[in-house]
Amino acid sequence: MQRVLIIEDEVSLRDGLKDNLEGEGYVVSTASTGKEGLEKGLEEEIDLILLDIMLPGMNGFDVCKKIKSKKLTLPIIMLTAKTKEVDKILGLELGADDYVTKPFSLNELLARVKAVLRRAEIHREAKQKKIDSYEFGNVKLNFVSLEGHKGARKLKLSKREFEILAYMIKREGEVISRNDLLDVVWGYDVFPTTRTVDNFIARIRQQIEDKPSKPKYIQSIRSAGYKLVTKITP
Ligand code: CA
Repeated sequence: MQRVLIIEDEVSLRDGLKDNLEGEGYVVSTASTGKEGLEKGLEEEIDLILLDIMLPGMNGFDVCKKIKSKKLTLPIIMLTAKTKEVDKILGLELGADDYVTKPFSLNELLARVKAVLRRAEIHREAKQKKIDSYEFGNVKLNFVSLEGHKGARKLKLSKREFEILAYMIKREGEVISRNDLLDVVWGYDVFPTTRTVDNFIARIRQQIEDKPSKPKYIQSIRSAGYKLVTKITP
């Protein structure tokens, strides 16, 4: 059973969402202030958070940042009331996984909840899958010996860079968020940021791309992340 935490100060909305999510089979807990939500989000075992922005005490932006700094892969859907807030969600790189704008329909919210939980599951599955070797273009990668070649040239890739490549290969053709990649490199930095991911990608491109300034294999997807494309479609 999947657990959802609703952090929302508006009683009728909070109770309505709780009833409906429970009706769909989710186990639901609630919080009515930012502080209470932060505590529950960090302490309780939760699969997804629905997070309002205008909350008494601490606002949803700060709650989101604080939770993501400790539980990067815990999915958060922001509940916003104004388009201004949407700009902020996108601009601040809070790490929120999705957002819905009030007033939203229940069906829309449930669809988002399902999609975000599914993405989290795909990430977990990809992280666990093993891959021994992979070839594309003139690149050959061996994930057991951690050796790679591009043509005759030996690649200079760190263990962490091999891990990122392995992860991207397992999700070939999908748009992969910086958060998912950050979770793969977690432990590299004390306070990793999405910038860390961009630096890793830049170094990997230097090694595997024909023209690193015009990457063909690791494509940037604006405001979404990266996509690995190794299979040339005619
Ligand atoms: Ca509110």
